[in-house]
Amino acid sequence: MPLTQTQADEIEAARAASAETRRPTVPALEAMLFRAMPVLDHGFVRVVDYMGDDAAIVQAARVSYGRGTRRVSEDAGLIRYLMRHRHSTPFEMCEIKYHVKLPIFVARQWIRHRTANVNEYSARYSILDREFYIPAPEHLAAQSTDNRQGRGSVLQGEEAAHVLALLREDATRTYDHYAEMLNEDAPDPDRQGLARELARMNLTLNTYTQWYWKSDLHNLFHFLSLRADPHAQYEIRAYAEAMLATVEAWVPAAYGAFRDYRLGAATFSAGMLATLRRMLSGEPVTQAESGLNKREWAEMMAALGRPA
Ligand SMILES: Cc1cc2nc3c(=O)[nH]c(=O)nc-3n(C[C@H](O)[C@H](O)[C@H](O)COP(=O)(O)OP(=O)(O)OC[C@H]3O[C@@H](n4cnc5c(N)ncnc54)[C@H](O)[C@@H]3O)c2cc1C
Repeated sequence: MPLTQTQADEIEAARAASAETRRPTVPALEAMLFRAMPVLDHGFVRVVDYMGDDAAIVQAARVSYGRGTRRVSEDAGLIRYLMRHRHSTPFEMCEIKYHVKLPIFVARQWIRHRTANVNEYSARYSILDREFYIPAPEHLAAQSTDNRQGRGSVLQGEEAAHVLALLREDATRTYDHYAEMLNEDAPDPDRQGLARELARMNLTLNTYTQWYWKSDLHNLFHFLSLRADPHAQYEIRAYAEAMLATVEAWVPAAYGAFRDYRLGAATFSAGMLATLRRMLSGEPVTQAESGLNKREWAEMMAALGRPA
C-alpha cells in the first residue's frame, strides 16, 4: 500500500471521528470515506468529502422543500428520465472530493477535464516521493498496428524484461540526480542545493504526484464516460474504475442510469439510424451502399455486435 504509517494513522483517526448532522449522508459511502483504494502500483483514490445523494437530485429536479415522500422506484424513474434527456443541472447538486495519487503522465490527461477544482501537491514547496509507476507485465503492451492511439499485444520474454529494466533504471537515475541536486538528504555542506522548483524538471513522467480533485456529479459522469471507456488509456481507466465503485455506493440510482444511458449506450448518427432501419426491414445493406464511411460502418457494426 502506498501510504506511510503516519498517513495510515491519520486516515484511521479521521475514520474514527464522527459528528451528528442534519445533512443527508449515504451509509455505503460513509463506509468508504477517507480509505485509500489502491490503483496501479503506488497510486490510490480516496473519497475525502461529498455532498448530496440520489434524493438531492430528485429534490432539485422537483424544487421541493423537503426530502419528499415519493417511492424509491418513482425517484429512480425520474433520475433515469433526467439522464436520458440530458437534463443535467439536478446532477450538479451533488459534489464529491477525492484525494488521488497518480503518475504525472496520467495527471496530464486527467487535468484536461477543466470543470473540476484541483489542488496539486506542490513540488516547488515539497520533495516528491521516490515512487514510479512501472507497468505490471500484462500491461506492457506493444504499439497497436491499426490504432495510433492504442496498444497491441503484450511484450514478451527478453524484450519485456529489457523494457522494464529501462523504465526502472531511468526513473531511479533521474530521481537520484534530483535528490543530489536538492542536497537535502544527508546534505553536503559545501553545496547550496538547487531550488525544489528547478530540481524536479528532469524527473520521469512515471513519478507519482498527488492532488485533491473535486467535481459535481454531472461533470464527474462526463469524466467517467470518457475515462472509464475502453478507448481511454489503461492507466487512467484504472482510476476511473475505482471512482465508479465510489459513485455506485454514493448515488446508486444515478449510477444505474449512467451505466445504462452513457457507459453502456452507443450514439448512432442520422446516417447510421437510416442504415439500421434498412437492415431491420430485411434489406441487405453493405458498407458501400450505406453512405457510411468505413470507420463509421465498423463502429456501427461493433456497437451492434456484428462482424464489420
Ligand atoms: C480517448 C481520448 C483521447 C484523447 N486524445 C487527445 C489528444 O490526442 N490530444 C489532446 O490534446 N487531447 C486529447 N484528449 C483530451 C480531450 O480532447 C479533452 O480535452 C478531455 O477529454 C476533456 O474533455 P472535456 O473538454 O469535454 O472536459 P471538461 O474540460 O471537463 O469540460 C466538460 C465540458 O464543459 C464544456 N467546456 C469546458 N470548458 C470549456 C471551454 N473553455 N469552452 C467551451 N466549452 C467548455 C465542454 O462542453 C466540455 O465538454 C483525449 C481524450 C480522450 C478521452
